[in-house]
Amino acid sequence: MVDLGGQYEGIKEQVNLAISEVMETSAFINGPEVQTFQKDLEAYLGVKHVIPCANGTDALQIAMMGLGLKPGDEVITADFTFAATVEVIALLQLTPVLVDVNPDTFNIDIEAVEKAITTKTKAIVPVHLFGQCSDMEALMALAKKHDLYIIEDNAQAIGANYTFKDGSKQKAGTIGHVGATSFFPSKNLGAYGDGGAIFTNDDALAHTLRGIVNHGMYERYHHDVVGVNSRLDSIQAAVLRAKLPKLDTYCNARREAARKYSEAFNGQEHILIPKTVNYCSDICNQNICDTCDCHVFHQYTLRITNGKRDGLVTYLGEQGVPSGVYYPIPLHKQKAYTDDRYNETDLPVTNQLVKEVISLPMHTELDTEQIEYITKAVIGFVNG
Ligand SMILES: *Cc1c(COP(=O)(O)O)cnc(C)c1O
Repeated sequence: MVDLGGQYEGIKEQVNLAISEVMETSAFINGPEVQTFQKDLEAYLGVKHVIPCANGTDALQIAMMGLGLKPGDEVITADFTFAATVEVIALLQLTPVLVDVNPDTFNIDIEAVEKAITTKTKAIVPVHLFGQCSDMEALMALAKKHDLYIIEDNAQAIGANYTFKDGSKQKAGTIGHVGATSFFPSKNLGAYGDGGAIFTNDDALAHTLRGIVNHGMYERYHHDVVGVNSRLDSIQAAVLRAKLPKLDTYCNARREAARKYSEAFNGQEHILIPKTVNYCSDICNQNICDTCDCHVFHQYTLRITNGKRDGLVTYLGEQGVPSGVYYPIPLHKQKAYTDDRYNETDLPVTNQLVKEVISLPMHTELDTEQIEYITKAVIGFVNG
C-alpha cells in the first residue's frame, strides 16, 4: 500500500544528516529542530501558529481541550472515518453525534450536519477524508450562524488546497478555528515514528494549546490548567523538516498516480472512481483532477457497485496486490460508539460505502507498470 523504503532512498542524505545533528546535540526533547520545523510548517501552510505534539489523536484531543468544550457538549462528526476522531470526543465526555457523508466525496454531508444541530451542539469536526477537503465554506457559514467551533481533522489532507468560491485558496487544516494533523509514517507527511500538530490563527487559543501540550504549564512548575504530556521529539522534527520541502512533489506524485488510475477505470460500469470536490472552483468540476491541487490522495478509493468488493480484495491479494478497506464498519455500529440516538435511515450513504469501498496502493513511488498491472487485475475481476 505504501513504499516508505523507496521514498527514503530519495532523501537518505538529508534525513540521515538531520538525525545525526540531533544525536550530536543530544537535545532530544524540545530541541531547536522542533522550533525550526514549527516555523517551516507555519510558513508552508500560511498559518500563524503550529503547535507540534505527539500524534494526530492527541492533536484532536488537545484542540478540543483548548476550546474549553465541556462534558455533555455535542460534537458533530462523520460516521465514515477512522475511530480516532470520535474516540477523543468520547474520552473528553463530550457527546459524539455521527452523521452521514456525501457519496461523491466521502466527506461530511452538510445537510446532515445542519439537521443534527441542537442547542447543545458546540463543535463540528469535518474529516478531510482520503486527502480532500470537506465543504469548508458551507461549514464555516453554519458555524457562524449557530455559533459553533470548526475543528478540522486534517490527518489525511496535509498539503491540500481548498478553493473558495471567489477563487482564493487556503491550505487544508487552516480554515476552521483549529486544525489537527498526524505525522504517522504512512500519512502524506510522515515521520519515522509518531508525531502530530495543531494549527490555528487565533493567538489566544495558540497560547492555551502550548500550555496544554506541556502539563498545563505556562510558567515552569505553575500548572494553570489540566494538561497532557504530548511532545514531538527532536528526531521526528528533524525528519519532518527534511521532508517538508518535498511535500508538494510528493502530493503531485500521488495525484499523477491517481490520474493514471482514474483514466484506466473511467467509464467502467461497476467501478466508481473518486470524485474531486464539486463545490470548489469550476476547474475542479471534473472527475479527474490533474489541473488543481484540491486533493492529495492520501488514499485512492474506488466504489465497486456490483457486490464484488470482498471478492476483489481476496483476488488482488492472490495477484500480489495489496489493498485496504477504509472503513469496513460505520462508527455508529462499533460497540464503543453505538447510541440509541442513531437511526439507520439517517445513515444510508455510510452503510452503503462500507460495503463498496476499496483503496488501492497509493504512494509517491508508484510507476506506470505497477499501475497497469493493478488496473488490469481490478477491471478483469470486477467484469469477470
Ligand atoms: C491517522 C488519523 C488520525 C490519528 O492520527 P495518529 O497520529 O495515528 O494518532 C486521526 N484522524 C484520521 C482521519 C486519521 O487518518
